[in-house]
Amino acid sequence: MIFKPIASSSAGNAYLVTDGTSRLLLEAGIPFKRLQKALNFTAQTLDGCLITHEHKDHAGHIKGLLACGVSVYASPGTAQALDQEGVTPFLMPEGRNMGPPFRVASFTVVPFRTFHDAAEPVGYLILGVDGERLVFATDTVGLNYRLPGVTILALEANYDDEILSRNTRMPETRKKRVRNSHMEINRLCQYLEGLDLTGCRELWLLHLSDASSNEGRFVDLAERAVGPRIIVRAAQKG
Ligand SMILES: [Zn+2]
Repeated sequence: MIFKPIASSSAGNAYLVTDGTSRLLLEAGIPFKRLQKALNFTAQTLDGCLITHEHKDHAGHIKGLLACGVSVYASPGTAQALDQEGVTPFLMPEGRNMGPPFRVASFTVVPFRTFHDAAEPVGYLILGVDGERLVFATDTVGLNYRLPGVTILALEANYDDEILSRNTRMPETRKKRVRNSHMEINRLCQYLEGLDLTGCRELWLLHLSDASSNEGRFVDLAERAVGPRIIVRAAQKG
């Protein structure tokens, strides 16, 4: 399985996942023309697109995908908030943290609930036909799932609370919103330290904030949390 960030910031998000048989897009937060360029003008042959929530930087550009026949999947709450005909809602039972698995081409997808200021935000466990397992979670205050046998982790590392606190130009109301809807680097590291990462080979840090992150330090902290065997990379803004 290959996980490839195309864009990763509050300006726009898009990620490509391939398992040697199928290609899946995660998020549609960049203009269709830009996406086409990044995919060598093959967006129409994508096997599907999964959306985590309705915010513009994740779902603002689904129209272009739908127009060229790509199936776009979202939770029922997200699909409703998007109010876009053609979005396919998957099952997300009330009171349950995870939805039942569903298939998209050769992938098996398991949605799980995340914690963000959106209608019904989710992250995804994605199983490839090659036997690999990716966990993708962005825009979430925290995570409390210990998903087994994960080989690639792609998780939000949005801000450092120390940098955020020092920022005198950002209004307190905005800081509060960040703290109540995004993942802090130390919280992520604590989560990582509690995981069994026996089969994991790669960790991607997603959605680093422009104003409140430090890429080099974030990678260092994450490396310390997961140990030297796992390759840690920060997804570039794109
Ligand atoms: Zn969001």
